[in-house]
Amino acid sequence: LTFQLTILGSNSAIPAHGRNHTSQILIINNEHFLIDCGEGTQLQITKYKCRLGRINHILISHLHGDHYLGLVGLISSMHLQGRKKPLTIYGPPGLAEIITLQLKYSQTVLNYPIEFKELQEDDPVIFQNFNMEITAFPVNHRIPCFGFLFKEKVKPRKIIKEKLPDWATSKDFNDLKAGKDIISPKGKVISFKTLTLPPKKSRSYAYCSDTRFMPELKTVVKKADLLYHEATFLHENIQWAETTFHSTTIEAATLAKEAKVGKLIIGHFSARYKDLSPFLVEVKSIFPNSELAIEGNHYEVSE
Ligand SMILES: [Zn+2]
Ligand SMILES: [Zn+2]
Repeated sequence: LTFQLTILGSNSAIPAHGRNHTSQILIINNEHFLIDCGEGTQLQITKYKCRLGRINHILISHLHGDHYLGLVGLISSMHLQGRKKPLTIYGPPGLAEIITLQLKYSQTVLNYPIEFKELQEDDPVIFQNFNMEITAFPVNHRIPCFGFLFKEKVKPRKIIKEKLPDWATSKDFNDLKAGKDIISPKGKVISFKTLTLPPKKSRSYAYCSDTRFMPELKTVVKKADLLYHEATFLHENIQWAETTFHSTTIEAATLAKEAKVGKLIIGHFSARYKDLSPFLVEVKSIFPNSELAIEGNHYEVSE
């Protein structure tokens, strides 16, 4: 089953050097999630052949323009394409008001419903379906800002068919898959461990942008298969990161190392830097399995 991240934009504040504002698409099984929607996102979606109509959930981390100024355009395009199915938008307080006002003054009545879900610090689970869930967690930025953790639920154990007793019922079958022991007609307890193999791993992706370095996030993003963390500045410019509530390369890599994640992807690069190769050198010095967020690149997590 698919677990794939596509980078649509990787720059901060001002689009520059061919790099666009922040946006990503995460596909988990058949569900498409758009994460942030900076200016130009719908053009990037077209360029990289992602399907607008497949997106049913949009998550906005915060209300700085480089993370949501493409939203009303994208919503309008969905309308013009004849969308009928509902769209859910998750974002900080104020987003619903902004979008509603834009639609009001253009006298646009959408032919599909939008449900706005306001992110709250004390309400971490914002979405779940049968196989995954998303939690939102506050990060440390100039205005209210949230990170997101996408995690598959524990998967069923695999039954070893040859070992399954012939008296086993469909309830026994389900109990074994859920990791419960079963009882034979003669009353003997049979451990699920002898009849099943461990489940496939539950994959996870953590998104942290924008934020000042938060060492305490290591418990939130612990052992994520993929971690996207902003690294707006090189470490020599840490004073800029401190005053603008952003992070440096070394800080992002330190979090990845301490949280023991599988892979680190850094992005949200400052327009001050044209050449990103020093970013990669710095993160790899702390956390070797690191990559730059390059637009159009896919990052897959296998089962
Ligand atoms: Zn930003
Ligand atoms: Zn910001």
